[in-house]
Amino acid sequence: MKAIIIGGGIGGIISALTLRHHGIEVELYERAEGNPEIGSAVQFTANVTNIFKRLGLLDVVKTCGSPVEVRNMREWNTGNIISTNRLGDTIAERELGSPYLVFGRSELLDELARYIPAGICNYGMKCVNVEQDETGVRATFDDGHVAIGDVLIGADGIRSTVRRLVFGMVEPVFSGKVAYRGLIPREKVADFESHKWIANAWPAPGQFMLQNFAGRNTINLSLYRNNQRLEDFNTGTATAVVPTEEVLEFVKDWEPSAREWLAQSADFLRWPLFDIEPLKEWSKGRVALLGDAAHATLPFIGQGAGQGAEDASALGDALAHLSDDPVAALKLYEAFRLPRATRVQLESRARSNYMMLKDPFAINQRNLQWREASKAITGYFGNSVDHWILSYDVESAFKEQIAA
Ligand SMILES: Cc1cc2nc3c(=O)[nH]c(=O)nc-3n(C[C@H](O)[C@H](O)[C@H](O)COP(=O)(O)OP(=O)(O)OC[C@H]3O[C@@H](n4cnc5c(N)ncnc54)[C@H](O)[C@@H]3O)c2cc1C
Repeated sequence: MKAIIIGGGIGGIISALTLRHHGIEVELYERAEGNPEIGSAVQFTANVTNIFKRLGLLDVVKTCGSPVEVRNMREWNTGNIISTNRLGDTIAERELGSPYLVFGRSELLDELARYIPAGICNYGMKCVNVEQDETGVRATFDDGHVAIGDVLIGADGIRSTVRRLVFGMVEPVFSGKVAYRGLIPREKVADFESHKWIANAWPAPGQFMLQNFAGRNTINLSLYRNNQRLEDFNTGTATAVVPTEEVLEFVKDWEPSAREWLAQSADFLRWPLFDIEPLKEWSKGRVALLGDAAHATLPFIGQGAGQGAEDASALGDALAHLSDDPVAALKLYEAFRLPRATRVQLESRARSNYMMLKDPFAINQRNLQWREASKAITGYFGNSVDHWILSYDVESAFKEQIAA
């Protein structure tokens, strides 16, 4: 069995690892000239780190990830702590069997790519056409190269070319929310090591700010703003670099520590946030979608890439289970993954407004809820509204599905 993977983001790279783990031959094609990830942060909860454990790569990813031991929710105007949750490595491992880690995206991707032998990942290769028949599938690239395989996986992101070619046009949906993402290098942060364990979040009316670790040498800053209009940006849907002064204007009434963090980033990347409407199918014949191509998700429960990793795990299991019938294997993968990824997509949409409430009564209620939840010394994850996401073991769930 040979799989062609289009896209070398988090979804594509983890797929290359999970498929190879099952002895499936892989060729991966990425249009960027190298690692396509930017420097910002990505978190992986136990439902994802248990996949790395199965691949024998947990110790590897731990070398570039940091456990979030403490997450403080702070009042935006005073800096007082609303709630403190102890989440980290040891607690997540004890309660869920796997750690909760935050990574610098490009560092994580570099580290994972080291476990894929040379010659499998091809960079600077843009897929422009996909054709299939009963004998196989062919991908054509903009330089004329043709790749031939038994299956083709479109892991090419929210504006997927594979999806457009095989399933038709699906327009991404603008959420009205925009992220401003900044980075602070290690040398600008006094006592950098101590910040690796602590994340701070400031939920404010119509805005939400997060400060956490983003790799071995960087602090990540994300300021989210609600009720935004694309017409107000000269760059439309594209990401754009904006000066720090512009971002500081949005938080001019905020307490000093939040402003001080933001002031230390040299500039910010303005990132309009899109998802897609849930799809009804992810596979057609020998072609299947994976990651954001299949279920682009808003980032408000931090699970978009994690769902891509769950896809990758299930895809490997399905292709190994039905190795004589790749078309049926991709249908099995779709039937297993689509309901859960869709639920995460819809939950992320619902949660996006909850983090940026405006009504003072609703804000008080929410903060009270967070305060109460944080009083639990143990059982945090068990009591979490996200327990169904975090405690999930995709490998066991797949085995249960095929046994049923
Ligand atoms: C602000 C923000 C914060 C987030 N935080 C988290 C988090 O903490 N945890 C989490 O799990 N998720 C998070 N996410 C979601 C996560 O970033 C995405 O779900 C994830 O990166 C998607 O990975 P992917 O590989 O599916 O797609 P992508 O990362 O988009 O990768 C697709 C790749 O395909 C390539 N490509 C595209 N077209 C072609 C073509 N024609 N030929 C060849 N290559 C092509 C692209 O260059 C790209 O490298 C966040 C998202 C945002 C916006």
